[in-house]
Order: sequence, then C-alpha cells, then structure tokens
Amino acid sequence: MIPSAFEYHRPGDVSSAVGLLQKYGDEARVIAGGHSLIPMMKLRMADIGHLVDLQNVEELKGISVSGNSVTIGAMVTQAELIAHGGLANAVPLLREAALQIADPQVRYVGTVGGNVANGDPGNDMPGLMQCLNATFTLVGPDGSREVAARDFYQSAYVTDRADDEILTRIAFNAVSGGYAYEKQKRKIGDYATAAAAVLLTRAGEKVVTASIAMTNLSDTPVWSEASGGALVGTDCGHDAVMAAVAAMLNDIDPQQDNRGPIEFKRHVAGVILARAIARAWARA
Ligand SMILES: Cc1cc2nc3c(=O)[nH]c(=O)nc-3n(C[C@H](O)[C@H](O)[C@H](O)COP(=O)(O)OP(=O)(O)OC[C@H]3O[C@@H](n4cnc5c(N)ncnc54)[C@H](O)[C@@H]3O)c2cc1C
Repeated sequence: MIPSAFEYHRPGDVSSAVGLLQKYGDEARVIAGGHSLIPMMKLRMADIGHLVDLQNVEELKGISVSGNSVTIGAMVTQAELIAHGGLANAVPLLREAALQIADPQVRYVGTVGGNVANGDPGNDMPGLMQCLNATFTLVGPDGSREVAARDFYQSAYVTDRADDEILTRIAFNAVSGGYAYEKQKRKIGDYATAAAAVLLTRAGEKVVTASIAMTNLSDTPVWSEASGGALVGTDCGHDAVMAAVAAMLNDIDPQQDNRGPIEFKRHVAGVILARAIARAWARA
C-alpha cells in the first residue's frame, strides 16, 4: 500500500529536530532508518503528517569506546555496530546479537536508536540494552535527561520518551566475562519467537554476577533480576540453570500469535535461555 501524504523535513541538528517535533506536535514523527516506521506507514497503521528525517544530524552518529565506557549514537546503523572492531572487543555480546537481526539489507539502514526507541517487543536491542544495564539520553525542549533501559519500556510501543523528545545516544560499561545471545526465529530475517541475552562473570567454579533479559515474550523486554540471581553463587550446573529458567518463566507473559501458542512460547523460552546460559558459562 502507499502511505498517506506527508511533509518531509531534514534538520541538521538535534535542536532543530526537537523544534519541528514541538511545532507539529502529534502530527510529527522522527524517521531514522525507516525499516520499522515505513512499513507501518504503508500498512496505514501510522498516519504521519510530518516526517522529521534524522540522517543529516551528525551529533547522532559515531561509536566511542574509551576504557570501560561505551557510547553509541542513535543513528549508528546495525551494520556499523557489527563492523566496529573496538566495540566487538569491548562488548562481543552486542555484535553477536546484531548479527541475528533481520538480514544485511535491513542492517545497513536500520539504526540502533530506532531499534531501541521503537518500543516493539520483537526488537532485539531493547532486551540487550537491559542486559547491559544501558542508559538512554533523551533530548527535548527542556534539555537533556537520562533514563535506564530497564525503566524505559512501559508496554508495546509505549516508552518513557515524550513525543517531543529525541533519543540521542546509548551508554553502558563494557563487562568482562561470558556472554551469549541466543535467538529462536522461524526463518532468517524473522523477529524472535524467543531470544535471550546473558552476561556472566565467574570466580573459579562459581557464578559471581549474572544479568539475563529476554525478548518477544511479553509486551516489553524482560530483564529478570530473579533469573540472574538464581545463578549467582552456584556452579551453573543443571539445577541452577533450571532455577534461572523457572524464575524467568515466572516473569514473562507471552501471548498467542502467528509464532505459536502460549505453551509453545514458554517451552521455547526455557530451551533458549538454558542454551544461552550454557554458552555464556563456557565463555566466562
Ligand atoms: C524484514 C525486516 C526484518 C526485521 N527483523 C528484525 C529483527 O529480527 N530484530 C529486530 O530487532 N528488528 C528487526 N527489524 C527492524 C529493524 O531492525 C529496524 O531497522 C529497527 O527496528 C528500527 O530502526 P530504524 O532506524 O529503521 O527506525 P525507524 O523505522 O526509522 O523508526 C522506528 C521508530 O522509532 C522512532 N525513532 C527512530 N529513531 C529515533 C530517535 N533517535 N529518537 C526517537 N525516536 C526515534 C521513530 O519515530 C519510529 O517510531 C526488521 C525489519 C525488517 C524490515
């Protein structure tokens, strides 16, 4: 289908972009890579009078890895993220996950900022950012503020971002230890039926820290403190993994859709999470 008519704007800096969002209110929406927004417009699920294209906003670009601190501009594409050697060394979890998003064509254009700001429970980056305990910077008419990824998602497509705010960057600390991003999907290029992001640290045969988040199993990503907590202090053996899976199953709330009924999704969630924990432990 052809989207309904819209005015196109291409500001050169964040403050002009915010000004356009203020000026046109409910009528306006920013566009980054357009790989989530344009399909919605074509399906007439989004009717937008003013599109504010962020592609000329230089301050939204670039990746910085400085010591332990990582900062990613909102307009960094998934392909740029995959290609960045420093980032792959500092946070290999991110590259492993990004390689499982869609296909190369989508990844050349889709941005990290668009993926996390979208609020689609099927997007992979939100759960990943919760696992990493990332912080999002939002800039609006009243200035800049920071929100933890773990506090950002409220329900499907509803986030803490106000309509006149732009997500400008994502920051987190590199974490040493084991990692894994495990994703079950129906075919290459599909969204997850279930995906798990796991970060573990170990001392000898004991888990010291564990952070676990899952994707597309509720109307928001699910970072489960109880699931990670079930591994801490254990030898990451079968009983501990089953306890972590049980805690996660308690925190998710999948719904039946074209990826399967609820019981199937809960089963897949358990299998995927157990695999992710095993791989992270083996790498820790
Ligand atoms: C065939 C196909 C398969 C896909 N498979 C997957 C998959 O497996 N996993 C996955 O995670 N994604 C998948 N995607 C989605 C893809 O990763 C998108 O690129 C991504 O979700 C959105 O990024 P974008 O830059 O395209 O954002 P856009 O589509 O431009 O924007 C998405 C939303 O975010 C808002 N937005 C964008 N940037 C900002 C910003 N800086 N500040 C505030 N709001 C902003 C927009 O207003 C819009 O509402 C798939 C897409 C396609 C077409």
